[in-house]
Amino acid sequence: MTTIQQNLAAVRQKIAVAAQQCDRSPEEVQLLAVSKTKPVAAIQEAIDAGQRQFGENYVQEGVDKIAHFNTTPFANQLEWHFIGPLQSNKSRLVAEHFHWMHTLDREKIAHRLNEQRPADMPPLNVLIQINISDEQSKSGISLTELPQLAQQISQLPNLVFRGLMTIPAPEPDPARQLAVFQQMTQAFNQLKSEHPQIDTLSMGMTDDMANAIRAGSTMVRIGTAIFGARDYA
Ligand SMILES: *Cc1c(COP(=O)(O)O)cnc(C)c1O
Repeated sequence: MTTIQQNLAAVRQKIAVAAQQCDRSPEEVQLLAVSKTKPVAAIQEAIDAGQRQFGENYVQEGVDKIAHFNTTPFANQLEWHFIGPLQSNKSRLVAEHFHWMHTLDREKIAHRLNEQRPADMPPLNVLIQINISDEQSKSGISLTELPQLAQQISQLPNLVFRGLMTIPAPEPDPARQLAVFQQMTQAFNQLKSEHPQIDTLSMGMTDDMANAIRAGSTMVRIGTAIFGARDYA
């Protein structure tokens, strides 16, 4: 087995243990492999180990990888998630190439994605990004702004509103970290009464996945634990 295959097996095991510890089924938690900055050879190893859902942060890098794998036998089994900040002048590339978009936080971008989604593709799955830790510099909206944006998005025919995503600030205290994730779950459940179709709560990364699952995450986004540390040099 390669390191990536071993890492994937270990991450799947960790998801299963975290789920079982809180009486959830491991199948309720999807694993998104975050492959940003990693070469297509690394992604191919993950594919060979059965992984099918991948997350990318940089539009052009993601589009290049999607184009590469479109020429391979697994093309139509793969699902590509855009999880980075999106400038409006890049929205067309996301609309034309990705299956999911996790970081919607503005009506303007929602309208652009809706208009730019090609007619021969299924609607784009979207998550609204919540700034749960209220950090000044981070993207995402507050929970008070959520009902209005959710309402606007759900009226756009080429988008499917699937749920919420968050990247909490690092929190060394496990109890406080869990409380932040639980706040997200509560907001998600509340939103469900208005939008019964939402089914995805994207939260949890390499360092906080166990608590995210304990709180109710349905999709963890894992990079480092699968592909190793990233080199931005
Ligand atoms: C990079 C990134 C991840 C993966 O983080 P790791 O700590 O490497 O698991 C998850 N979500 C988002 C939005 C990211 O940018």
